Amino acid sequence: MSYAAAPQTAHPLEIQARVSFGVAAEAFTLDVDLALPGHGVTAFFGPSGCGKTTLLRAVAGLERPNPGRIKVSGDTWQDDDANTWLPTHQRPLGYVFQEASLFSHLSVQGNLDFGLKRVPAGERRIALDQAIELLGIGHLLSRRPAQLSGGERQRVAIARALATSPRLLLMDEPLAALDAARKAELLPYFERLQRELALPILYVSHSLDEVARLATHLVLLSNGRVQATGATSELLTRLDLPLAHGDNASAVIEGEVTGLDIAWDLLQIRFTGGMLQCVHAADSRPRPIGARLRVRVLARDVSLALTPAHDTSVLNVLPATVRAITPDGSAQALVTLDAGGTTLLARVTRKSADILHLAVGQTVFAQIKAVAVLN
Ligand code: ADP
Ligand code: MG
Repeated sequence: MSYAAAPQTAHPLEIQARVSFGVAAEAFTLDVDLALPGHGVTAFFGPSGCGKTTLLRAVAGLERPNPGRIKVSGDTWQDDDANTWLPTHQRPLGYVFQEASLFSHLSVQGNLDFGLKRVPAGERRIALDQAIELLGIGHLLSRRPAQLSGGERQRVAIARALATSPRLLLMDEPLAALDAARKAELLPYFERLQRELALPILYVSHSLDEVARLATHLVLLSNGRVQATGATSELLTRLDLPLAHGDNASAVIEGEVTGLDIAWDLLQIRFTGGMLQCVHAADSRPRPIGARLRVRVLARDVSLALTPAHDTSVLNVLPATVRAITPDGSAQALVTLDAGGTTLLARVTRKSADILHLAVGQTVFAQIKAVAVLN
């Protein structure tokens, strides 16, 4: 299947767009100039009203940026200088919204066929069977949308978007209308899309948990402007950005599954800073040996010791170098750690930092409970 092209050769996504609404005090202007990876999930993150939806609409051609320049997979969708403007229906993209907009009078199969028909047979890059399999909806094909749960409706909407053989998938808060249990059910499908299709995904969310779990690249938006853009793992731990300062400040660790400790049912992961043991996520996705895995560790779940403790229940004790110690409120400090090239954050009390005489450059042992490694 041609989607499985080597991602490293993918063209970057170029988005230069200025979109203005309203006048004077009511005015809002989105003004961005972005070069994004042409593969993987890029998340747009920011508070309500910062321009996330406007940005996706500009990429889709539902807003006409002025000025604007949009290039996807080497194809130009808008270029003012060359007088190029593709209307939405000529842009090979899939768009998934918060609420799945399925045709209620058609079955799931009918909805999927509708997506498929939009693409001439010779231009199809993804088989409908494959989209059905990826989203796990084979048993739902004869149902009407009213007979589906919210999560199932979203899976059908995504499969329908894939059936159009898009070069780019746009997702605007696709989990926001679902409760926590449905969200947890859907997340593994998003991970699968990312893993199995070399299709870039632009993913809008205001949930840091989703972003940390799904996105390899992150764009922080604030009031229509790009506040920061870069690898998710880097932005999450940057202390000059707001992400590292909230309650769920965290680090993302990218690693590889090296084994399953069957006796204890623990997953073993190797990353640049050593080995991690963790408890499987409840949704028990298959985690074959060799699979790449992103796990997340909250700053408040990392404690520090000056010597490696052996008489402890904590299974992960990692040597790390202190890179920075930043006061965080009146009682706490955030300690930035380098564990073999992977950045971790530890939130400790100022009191503990003082008792341990923590200092930049010092070697410490970061202690992470196996049950606190989110995967
Ligand atoms: P987000 O998706 O991040 O919540 P939006 O992109 O929907 O933000 O909106 C950004 C700003 O632009 C908001 O202040 C919103 O009210 C305004 N806006 C969006 N669409 C329009 C429109 N069609 N006309 C006027 N203002 C709009
Ligand atoms: Mg929005």
